[in-house]
Amino acid sequence: MANGNNPFLMAQRQVKSACDKLGTEDAVYEILKNPQRVMEVAIPVKMDDGSIKTFVGYRAQHNNAVGPYKGGVRFHPEVTMDEVKALSTWMTFKCGVVGVPYGGGKGGVIVDHRSLSEGEYERLSRGYSRAISPIIGEKVDIPAPDVGTSGKVMAWMTDEYEKATGTFAPGVYTGKPVEFYGSLGRTEATGYGVAIMAKAAAQKIGLHLEGAKVAVQGFGNVGTFAALYISQMGAKVVAVSDHTCSLYDEGGIHIKSLMEYVRENDGGLAGYEGAEETDRDSLLTMDVDILMPCALENQITAENAKDIKAKIISEGANGPTTIEADEILDEKGVVVVADILANAGGVIVSYFEWVQNLTRDTWTFDKVQKKQGELMEKAFSEIWDLKNEKNTNIRNAAFMISIRRIEIALRLRGLI
Ligand code: NAD
Repeated sequence: MANGNNPFLMAQRQVKSACDKLGTEDAVYEILKNPQRVMEVAIPVKMDDGSIKTFVGYRAQHNNAVGPYKGGVRFHPEVTMDEVKALSTWMTFKCGVVGVPYGGGKGGVIVDHRSLSEGEYERLSRGYSRAISPIIGEKVDIPAPDVGTSGKVMAWMTDEYEKATGTFAPGVYTGKPVEFYGSLGRTEATGYGVAIMAKAAAQKIGLHLEGAKVAVQGFGNVGTFAALYISQMGAKVVAVSDHTCSLYDEGGIHIKSLMEYVRENDGGLAGYEGAEETDRDSLLTMDVDILMPCALENQITAENAKDIKAKIISEGANGPTTIEADEILDEKGVVVVADILANAGGVIVSYFEWVQNLTRDTWTFDKVQKKQGELMEKAFSEIWDLKNEKNTNIRNAAFMISIRRIEIALRLRGLI
């Protein structure tokens, strides 16, 4: 990985740039530039053929001045310690942007989970949870799903944590199935947030959503619901892609039937007959009004940013846009709703799930979505105003608002 695309260096540069713009004292960046703790674990797993294979995993805890560490667990072959550190850094700021009382954490295991049987997947998930159990807890560090993990995995991990610690602790993981201490609205939360942030940006620039063209990269948890909700708001999703292929339909892809197809066909878009298969790389630069990158980091780069035609980018993925690309998009006047705001719906509803777990309460779907919408729209409007006041972009303004909140907590704790 070139240094320029190292996500951790990118996260540090973003934090530094916002600290500089705010004029915070040096101690703030000095504290926030590194995670407080990073744990590396080796997880031996008994494979179905009887052999033992060891998988390497990480848990990074960035900062807990505001509250317990919080952040997903990624299962992906390209997980690195630096990636996990970057993601934990972004989590600190994401929580600060929307004002939920958490700090940032993130976990990862280097594995292609699709190559595992169901039993191997479960044993690896349980092994990871057991390995990190000494440093997590309902009021210490609360992991959640990310790429390659899901509600089912969170149930295995919660169960394993409870066994390892001899406690009843449903709030130790969030993103659990609704039938297992999960929250209604959590599965939809991140994608829903990506869609409402695109809508908020569209209102600001006078773009009518009715008939607006949208391209969505990634059709997993986030991309699916981002596509579904933006189409329900009147926009036309003309292109979607995943690891198998890219699909295009000028008239708008029927998202519900595509979701059905993916569910029935083992998770991939390839072979869907309701749209035309196209070149995957061209999705980002298609002639659309709104682009939603919902796959992985470093997708919009200095190479393709100049060719982007979208007026709005709502970042579902974490870190999909490099710093160099951000500068190009700024010059072109593209409104980039930054990841730490656009995809904060997941952590917001994770927070609601945690509150329900700790209070042994259950909220309705409507209550969850209404509260999520209110929090995100309030954050968007504060950030939009600060962006205009400081003559900067949404990403910088979001980091600035967050840093202000964390700085206050650091000061009140006597850390600076
Ligand atoms: P997921 O595993 O459910 O989906 C990832 C999707 O990306 C899959 O459809 C996969 O096929 C696709 N993909 C992989 N490589 C691709 C490529 N080269 N081109 C196009 N598509 C590709 O994961 P997810 O939970 O939807 O997470 C997606 C992104 O959103 C990640 O960056 C994650 O960190 C971020 N995120 C997720 C949540 C959440 O609540 N799940 C919250 C905040 C941020």
